[in-house]
Amino acid sequence: MKFATNKTDIQDLTGDRLRAWLADYGIRSFHADQVLRWVYRRQSDDFVAMTDLSKTLRRLLDDHFCLKRLAVDRVAVATDGTRKFLFGLPDGQQVETVLIPERGHHTLCISTQVGCAQGCRFCMTARGGLVRNLTCGEIIAQVRDVAALAAAEGLNLTNVVIMGMGEPLANYRHVVDALSVITDSDCGLGFSSRRVTLSTVGLVPRLADLAADTRVNLAVSLNAADDETRSALMPTNRRYPLETLMAACRAYPLAPRRRITFEYILIAGINDRPGDARRLVSLLHGIRAKVNLIPFNEHPACDFRRPAQAVIDAFQRQLLDAGQTAVVRYSKGGDIAAACGQLRGTARLEEDR
Ligand code: SF4
Repeated sequence: MKFATNKTDIQDLTGDRLRAWLADYGIRSFHADQVLRWVYRRQSDDFVAMTDLSKTLRRLLDDHFCLKRLAVDRVAVATDGTRKFLFGLPDGQQVETVLIPERGHHTLCISTQVGCAQGCRFCMTARGGLVRNLTCGEIIAQVRDVAALAAAEGLNLTNVVIMGMGEPLANYRHVVDALSVITDSDCGLGFSSRRVTLSTVGLVPRLADLAADTRVNLAVSLNAADDETRSALMPTNRRYPLETLMAACRAYPLAPRRRITFEYILIAGINDRPGDARRLVSLLHGIRAKVNLIPFNEHPACDFRRPAQAVIDAFQRQLLDAGQTAVVRYSKGGDIAAACGQLRGTARLEEDR
């Protein structure tokens, strides 16, 4: 796919920024809404074909903006129907986006960075370090492009999770701008903020900003209930240890009936003992929380192991018995390295089409 290089991707502009840009040309703000509806609701790629706009406005848009679809370098399909898209970016970098079939709907897992600087030991993305942040347009385009494909196939794509490559709060401005478009029900992609979840390792200073700037669900990648274990698994914990992180979670303003999801990857012999479950319960005391237990997805680059099923079941039982909501989430797409922690933006796909 060829990308226009001298024009701005209109997906890099939020509605407010497009309104301000048009205002400089004396164009009233409702025309921005018309443009955005063409781009996101009608999935148009051609300004000239936006027939309810004046010819002058169409020409102005066409002179300054382009609409970038992501190049689909590969698609891998898992036996459970999970699809992993390897998208090519204009500078030759690649990111992965995963479309996951669930009961009655589909969920899309999107990336926010090429690579990642956080260095979590269980994660494939961490291996190459951070290459660069995705632009706002590149984050939106993952959703817009796959939503078009889902619509063409009659799939019910309702949920978006920001859990792919990268730490979203380390690319804060672009992620929040993209979320404003993804959750705009009038002119944007129209996903309910209740069905959009952002997952973070816990960059504490950004949590209050996130609560002020968005209404999406918060998930915190926890993975250990003591600082020694968590720092060994996730170097970020040395900057924001558990006491600081949990204080920020306690202060996080939650709408009625919302909870913070705490993701806990269960790794054999590392964080799956009864004492770990006990510490986890007391750590979450007083927080409206749900725990997602994710049995580790083994991969060749890491010698961690998945706990035995009996250990997984016992860990969950201990949380439930203590009154803590806890579900075991078995990642999908494990046979195409699309499961949690397996994304890395390289072309190691077993089954292409
Ligand atoms: S788990 Fe997330 S934050 Fe940690 S290294 Fe991987 S992509 Fe980055």
